[in-house]
Amino acid sequence: MSVITRFAPSPTGRLHVGNIRTALHNWMLARKSGGRFMLRIDDTDAERSREEYVTAIREDLAWLGLEPDGEERQSQRLAIYDTAFASLKDAGRIYPAYETAQELDLKRKIQLGRGLPPIYDRGALALGDADRAAKEAQGIAPHWRFKLDHDEPIEWDDGVRGAQKFDAAQLSDPVIRRADGSWLYMLPSAVDDLDMGVTDVLRGEDHVSNTAVQIQMFTALIAAGFGAANSLPSFAHEALLVGKEGKLSKRLGSLGCDAFRERGIEPGAVVALLARLGTSLPIEPITDRATLVDTFDLSTFGRAPAKFDDAELDRINAAMVHQMDFAEAKDRLPGGMDEAGWHAIRPNLAHVGEAADWWRLVTGPIAPPAFSDDDREYLAQAARALTWSDDPWHALTGVLKEATGRKGKPLFLPLRQALTGMDHGPDMGELLPLIGEERARKRLIDAATS
Ligand code: GLU
Repeated sequence: MSVITRFAPSPTGRLHVGNIRTALHNWMLARKSGGRFMLRIDDTDAERSREEYVTAIREDLAWLGLEPDGEERQSQRLAIYDTAFASLKDAGRIYPAYETAQELDLKRKIQLGRGLPPIYDRGALALGDADRAAKEAQGIAPHWRFKLDHDEPIEWDDGVRGAQKFDAAQLSDPVIRRADGSWLYMLPSAVDDLDMGVTDVLRGEDHVSNTAVQIQMFTALIAAGFGAANSLPSFAHEALLVGKEGKLSKRLGSLGCDAFRERGIEPGAVVALLARLGTSLPIEPITDRATLVDTFDLSTFGRAPAKFDDAELDRINAAMVHQMDFAEAKDRLPGGMDEAGWHAIRPNLAHVGEAADWWRLVTGPIAPPAFSDDDREYLAQAARALTWSDDPWHALTGVLKEATGRKGKPLFLPLRQALTGMDHGPDMGELLPLIGEERARKRLIDAATS
């Protein structure tokens, strides 16, 4: 059976780094076994779902290189949910309930006050036909709950968390449909996973208790003859992503591809970091997706929250830029910057966008500092000594070292300052040929006579 995974965001906002990580892991899980990675847009909440976010989700996945093999939208599958609902209702697994939000809240407070867990008391199940008719005569439309089977054990072998066991009696029968007929997340997701033939559900550990409930939904759906007699998917719940200080952070909840792009972060750096964050595998600037995919393994995932650190992302990004081929960077480089220029400058870059700043050292104008009399004399000597060859920098510094007895910083720094206007920067051996003989001599003379 070929693996089918899915990433199921609700289009109520942009993808954030936590979602991106889940999407990436599902993509890798599918790619690893030549399976399919599906995008499912969870847009049953018509009020909060926005088309612009659907577009942004697709664009972000494309930017990251995680294009799905197919897409489904829950808002286009409502008829299927109706059918599933009818089947489960006929099978006695769905019942109407009439409590208001205030009544439910009060019940919970009383339970908590007595030190009891706030589990729904199934008050609605005690109603008879006459009670229900009376409610409806008062104009109270029911919402709908899925009836958990208290005798059916809930167990699964979680791909990350190992053996999981829940007692259905300790869970509330979940509300699956509102009084206005709209759907809550729980049932449509189970219907879709069965109907789309999803083999592996990999999501955040905030969904563990949903899985407990959904396992009974899957079983009930299959028993009610809904869809093909698929087997249940496997489940894995990864630890959540937290800030580097170890807490769930608000900032992470809004940190996404647009912010990364603005900061000049390469999509590959996001992928390399998130692929292994929270696993026992080393986080490295791996640009080759096949390597990431081949080494992806749920058994390397830890149970502790994964810590996201911006500085680590910056480091990976810089390391990737330092290895980046000219061809890949080309379209984003300043005009006139060729392959030799790129190779000279890339070791200094935190991101590709900085290339233009460094390229100005070559094209000018530059702004050297004021020099001492001594250094001006030294730079005049340098201008006279400058000869051109394949390696003018080492020729020049060799001659000057011999002639002046200078070495180390006094030998190199005034030259660098006069030639580039900066105290630090790309390797002068690579940079000087790019500056060129004429421009270099002029810069030395200008500095000597300043
Ligand atoms: N739309 C749900 C969410 O974003 C999907 C969860 C799931 O993967 O089933 O939380």
